Amino acid sequence: MAAGLEDLFGQEAPAEPDESAGELRRAMVVAAHPDDADFGAAGTAHLLTQAGWEVRYVVATDGSKGSDDPSLTPDQLVTMREQEQRDAADLLGVQSVGFLGFTDGELVRDLTLLEAIVREIRAFQPFAVYTHDPEPVIIRNGFVNHSDHRATGLATVDAVYPAARDRLNFPHHLEEGLAPHKVRELYLWGANESNFEVDITEVVETKIASLVAHDSQFDVNDEFLEQIRTFWKNDAGRYVEEFRRITLFL
Ligand SMILES: [Zn+2]
Repeated sequence: MAAGLEDLFGQEAPAEPDESAGELRRAMVVAAHPDDADFGAAGTAHLLTQAGWEVRYVVATDGSKGSDDPSLTPDQLVTMREQEQRDAADLLGVQSVGFLGFTDGELVRDLTLLEAIVREIRAFQPFAVYTHDPEPVIIRNGFVNHSDHRATGLATVDAVYPAARDRLNFPHHLEEGLAPHKVRELYLWGANESNFEVDITEVVETKIASLVAHDSQFDVNDEFLEQIRTFWKNDAGRYVEEFRRITLFL
């Protein structure tokens, strides 16, 4: 068994599953586009896999709008971005990536999206789920929160509680062998009010490498690398990923 999370995470460690109660050391990261999971939680995901957790990425959209290059068709872009996301996941030790395949830029929080995420949660049975904070339209007066990010975050929060938990939601899942599942911890990135910080200083270069893997999205040069390093650096000179953490009492 790997070391406890407190050895890896510095001052604050995420809660750990009670394995005697059947809870699994599994975390799911649900993101709108290929690269969002790495922006939001790559450092934390890498720390978790180092600690022996199983981590699954789920990407809601196909990323088919994410290029200004006129020589690329949407189909080429989808294939390219899926591979980039798999490469980034490999760098982090993230064991699996699921692509839900919704059209980039057109995501809405509807029952189809909700069911797709509930299905993922019931199949994987994560102890913790990481996703976009669905609440802000504007993040820290500096960024517009993409509508796909808000839709993904909202559907994921709704899937965690109560949709995946209650057996009468999407009852045909039972016939498919998918049992209801209680997620215990929810972590939201892109929040205006964070209450939890993961110190990723030890693994920041791996996080950067996971972002650089999304080659179609960035012109990787020294300025870009400096910008993204600065973005995750706090006043004390440590690199951190910030989350809004919710412990679910179910
Ligand atoms: Zn995005």
